[in-house]
Parts: sequence; structure tokens; C-alpha cells
Amino acid sequence: MTDKIQMKTPLVEMDGDEMTRIMWGMVKDQLLRPYIDLKTEYYDLALEKRDETDDRITIEAAEAIKRYGVGVKCATITPNAARMDEYNLKQQWKSPNGTIRAILDGTIFRAPIMVKNIKPTVRNWKKPIILGRHAYGDIYKNVEYRVEEPGKAELVFTNNNGEEVRHTIQEFNGPGIIQSIHNLDASIISFAEACCAYALDQRVDLWFSTKDTISKTYDSNFKEIFEKVYEEKYKDKFEDAGITYFYTLIDDAVARIMKSEGGMLWALKNYDGDVMSDMLASSFGSLAMMTSVLVSPHGYFEYEAAHGTVQKHYYKYLKGERTSTNSVALIFAWTGALRKRGELDDIPELGVFADKLDAATVKTIGDGIMTGDLAKLAEPAAKKVVYTEEFIDEVARRLEKLI
Ligand code: NAP
Ligand code: MG
Repeated sequence: MTDKIQMKTPLVEMDGDEMTRIMWGMVKDQLLRPYIDLKTEYYDLALEKRDETDDRITIEAAEAIKRYGVGVKCATITPNAARMDEYNLKQQWKSPNGTIRAILDGTIFRAPIMVKNIKPTVRNWKKPIILGRHAYGDIYKNVEYRVEEPGKAELVFTNNNGEEVRHTIQEFNGPGIIQSIHNLDASIISFAEACCAYALDQRVDLWFSTKDTISKTYDSNFKEIFEKVYEEKYKDKFEDAGITYFYTLIDDAVARIMKSEGGMLWALKNYDGDVMSDMLASSFGSLAMMTSVLVSPHGYFEYEAAHGTVQKHYYKYLKGERTSTNSVALIFAWTGALRKRGELDDIPELGVFADKLDAATVKTIGDGIMTGDLAKLAEPAAKKVVYTEEFIDEVARRLEKLI
């Protein structure tokens, strides 16, 4: 065997919980360490560790990504009441993803991993559709009120001098409902910048859609900011890269996407992104076949698997039963991070390795060897449904041949 690939800058490695933690170790030992002298700065984000450090470990990991630029994260438990008891926690710690996102100020991009024997439900989708979802504001930070009696609802803004602006929302003759939402220019600017930067990085067209014909101030503000960021900072770069920026109404975008062959980055407001990402994920197969990366406008990248810790499989594993858990999204999180590290440090071997590992993974499934979740969808039917560790062994065999 040839010499291992040497790295210059460490990757920020964030280990996680349950079944994904088990697979994380397998992926490193069997797919990465044989070929790469893996250099990482390790942060253990397992729930016990977060509890022990009063969640400082999560903040330290995010700070480390700011120092080094690239991180790779395993799935982690976001504690709820049941987890409080299960892990005897000091408090119900926040979602690590939320904490990291707030520190890095990012946008999340998700793309399906396509294999020939898992066909998208939408038949003409030949290329992946990447989705970029704004992760701040709108209905996720709303104020709502249930009106029980007749009366007048007003929108009131009071500036710091105490001057008021008032608009009547509705004169209620009977019961009804009111909702107020907001967003911030700073957040929309960073969303627009992250989308432009990611489209450029992936060399794909950028689509953005809102409902600005109806929402003439709110959605128009999104549209104008996107246009301004594009015109002022990205137009020339897009032209050089041979890609385009395209704005259209959300309903028109949906109709066009359904008829397209894919291959674009589709930027969406928070709620639109929530709904459309579930539509894309289910059409393309499953969450274990999606890549997910947090891109900050400051140039930091965090790669992760889009699914959770696969708790049910982990409990089977603990009982000594065999599991058939899909490690594809975790493998792609590592290859995404290694490829980016290679790009930033000018180590082309890392990118070549990442491409080969992706190819070996896709080929394994293409050869009809897959975990149970995919076997349900495969066409033609799977040749062999494998256990968690068998799948990684099969990928390792194909990777060895490619290298
Ligand atoms: P989940 O871990 O995504 O699993 C839900 C179900 O989806 C599983 O039971 C399994 O279905 C299927 N599944 C998901 N990933 C799979 C894979 N890689 N291979 C095969 N099947 C897979 O979601 P959850 O059970 O709702 O959440 C478990 C924990 O994950 C929670 O504590 C939650 O806080 C955490 N979570 C973390 C993240 C993150 O860190 N990014 C995201 C979401 C959830 P079957 O049981 O039918 O086989
Ligand atoms: Mg959703």
C-alpha cells in the first residue's frame, strides 16, 4: 500500500450520540485511517459530555470551526423530557446544531445523494436539487394572538424617541386570529451571501423565490436584498463560472422545479425551506441519502448527516441485536469536510480520495448491496440487504480497488 495522505490543518471533529456514534468510529477506522494520516481536533459532543461541561464543549467546538474553517459533525441528541431522565441531566441543553448555527451565522444546504437504483419519485429529476434554507425569523419567531371578541387589531411600531407608527390590521366583528412576524436585514444579507457563495462553490445556478407580488414590503425586502448582494458582489464571479441567478415567484418556481431535470441551488425562506426540504428528501429516497452542510458568510463550513442518532437501532445494538443502519450520510459528511480541507490547504490528494470514497459508496448501493431502509425503495430489488458493519466492509472493499 502507498503512503498515507498527510494533512496540514486539523478538521474540527465533533463526535455524537447513539447509533451514529457507533458508525462514526467504524467509518474512521475502516474507510479513512487506512489511507489518511487523519488530523483532527476532537470535540466529544456526546450528551454526557455536554452535561458534564455545562454545554461549553459545544461552544468550544464552534469556536474551533472559526479558527480552522472546517468541521465535521456526527448526529447528536437534542434533549427532551425523556432524555432528562435517561441521562440524568442538569438541564435540558439546547440543540447543538442551533448553538453552532448561532455562533457561525450560517445557512444550511442539503442535497440528495443519488444512486441509480433508488429512483426519484419525480422521474425527470436527473441531477440533485440543492436546497438552501434561511434559518432565522418569520413564523419561527412569531407572536400570535387569539381574538375572542369584537375589536380593532393594530400593528404598532414605537421608535426609540417614543414616536409611533400605527396600521390597522383588521376591525374584528367576532372571534379570529392574529400573527405578527419579522426578519432582519442583517440576517437576510448573510443568507443571500451564503447562497451566492455556495452556488459558486458548487458551480450551479441559483434560484430564489418568494411571494413578493402579495407581500409587497416583507417578501420584496428579501428579493431586493438578494438582488443587491448578487449585483454588487457576485455577478462577475457568476458570469466567469458560467452560472446564473434567477428570481421567480414561489408558485412559479415550484411548477418549474417539478418539470426541470434538477441541478440547481434553490434558496428559500424559512418556512418554504422547511416544507420543500421534506418534499425533496422524500422524493429522492431518505434522510440517510442527503448531504447537509452549514455554510457561513465568513467562509466557515460544517458538514453533518441530515438524520438523527437513530435511537431505535441503537437500543437494538445495545441488546446485542444486529442492525441495518445506513452510514451513507455520515460518510459523505466526512468526504465533504476532507474535500474542503484539501481545497483550502491545497492538498489535491484529499479531494481525489473523497471522490473515490463517494464513488465506492454509491457503487456499493449500485451493485445492489444496501441497508434495510434503502432495500424498501430499490428498483430493481436489492441483491443483498446488509447489516451496518457489513455495508461499511463492502464500501471498504470497493474503495481499496479504486485506490
Ligand atoms: P432519526 O434518528 O433520524 O431516526 C428516525 C427513523 O428514521 C429511525 O428510527 C429509522 O427508521 C430512520 N432512520 C434515520 N436515519 C437512518 C439511517 N441512517 N439508517 C437507517 N434508518 C434511519 O430521528 P429520531 O429517532 O426522531 O431522533 C433520534 C435522536 O436524534 C433524537 O434524540 C433527536 O434529538 C436527534 N436528532 C439529531 C439530529 C442532528 O444531530 N442533526 C437531527 C434530528 C434528530 P426505522 O426505525 O423505521 O428503521
Ligand atoms: Mg420539516
